[in-house]
Amino acid sequence: MTPYDAENIFAKILRGEIPCHRIFEDERTLAFMDIMPRSPGHCLAIPKGPARNLLDCDPEMLSHLITKVQRIAKAAKQALGADGVTLQQFSESAGGQEVFHLHFHILPRWEGMVLQRHPAPRAEMATLAEQAEKIRAALASL
Ligand code: AMP
Repeated sequence: MTPYDAENIFAKILRGEIPCHRIFEDERTLAFMDIMPRSPGHCLAIPKGPARNLLDCDPEMLSHLITKVQRIAKAAKQALGADGVTLQQFSESAGGQEVFHLHFHILPRWEGMVLQRHPAPRAEMATLAEQAEKIRAALASL
């Protein structure tokens, strides 16, 4: 398997070299808004440790991450007033992966609303900031 590349864009976000709209952080996890959202409130949860994708992730790291994904999914659904949530995780190019640091997509969903096709347009920064604030508030209230 191709080794982890520490120059991927999410590793740069983790090192603070690139900004993000942060919604959650603990010692092992970071979650932030996707800049090309395929639904309103589309966010990403990543481990802080070096995992290329699901296939090479340390199981203990993955266990911690998925419990945070559940919390963030609940908060995003509540914050955006969504009807449901879709999770996506792509591993390797053939699996649809473009950024090679493990991440889960958390996509709030509404009855009858289809997901934007990939690549979706880049979102307004103010919209992402507003949604991130709402999700942070919902997380604090869970
Ligand atoms: P994938 O690797 O196909 O699972 O998807 C990578 C995701 O990262 C896409 O949904 C992109 O919109 C998103 N993305 C790429 N660069 C950034 C960034 N700087 N901040 C937030 N999301 C990003």
